[in-house]
Amino acid sequence: MPEGDTVWNTARVLERALAGARLTGSDFRVPQLATTDLTGWTVRESASRGKHLLLRLRDPDAAELTLHSHLRMDGAWRAYAPGERWTARPAHLIRVVLRSPGAVAVGYHLHELALVPTAEEDSLVGHLGPDLLGADWDPTEAVRRLAAHPDATIGEALLDQRNLAGVGNLYKCEVLFLRGVSPWTPVRAVPDLAGTVALAQRLLAANRGRWTQSTTGVLRRGGTSYVYGRRAQPCRRCGTAIRKEELGERVTYWCPVCQPERE
Ligand SMILES: [Zn+2]
Repeated sequence: MPEGDTVWNTARVLERALAGARLTGSDFRVPQLATTDLTGWTVRESASRGKHLLLRLRDPDAAELTLHSHLRMDGAWRAYAPGERWTARPAHLIRVVLRSPGAVAVGYHLHELALVPTAEEDSLVGHLGPDLLGADWDPTEAVRRLAAHPDATIGEALLDQRNLAGVGNLYKCEVLFLRGVSPWTPVRAVPDLAGTVALAQRLLAANRGRWTQSTTGVLRRGGTSYVYGRRAQPCRRCGTAIRKEELGERVTYWCPVCQPERE
């Protein structure tokens, strides 16, 4: 599940593959950028902001553009060596190819692909709350934004990227299990918002640098989560069957005993 940690890792992959390189070709396979050609542009850096990817480029005249992409549930970037076969995903999912002398970056099933002047990045990511994995992570501001919606369920508030940027469904479910809070709890009734936010940050940070997402410390298949993806399986703490239901626009997983309802 691409969440803040996955996007952070992906930004590093692109940084290693392309930063400092002058592009020798580009191929956009989305209608809005079909005629765009980035040949000759230099990749300055690759960054992530919450779940958004920002590839910053400069042309010989020092104009600066940012290529924005979003992975949502199913997108991915892969870096290949020149001449290597592109085997990560089916070719029809390719949305963009960026070629450089040392590497080829291929973006699969990317969403919200857009090219904007770097000075106008905020038009795409300015609405985001504090970035859990950003150098400027601001937990106090994240708590303030969450608390501004006292009647929202904590399950939905944690996913709202305007409150804090980087938590997806997996970390939402896992954080609330570890805090013993039902996903349906209104924000105003969550005992310790600051502790909840701090835990979310720690879990994402712990998974930087690896592709297996684990909140349990266990990396083997089937052992990586407490509740996420474990419907009807026994709770690792109390043995009760884990439940799965819709909450807002997403499903949520929780243990009805370890995470009692509160008002
Ligand atoms: Zn339980």
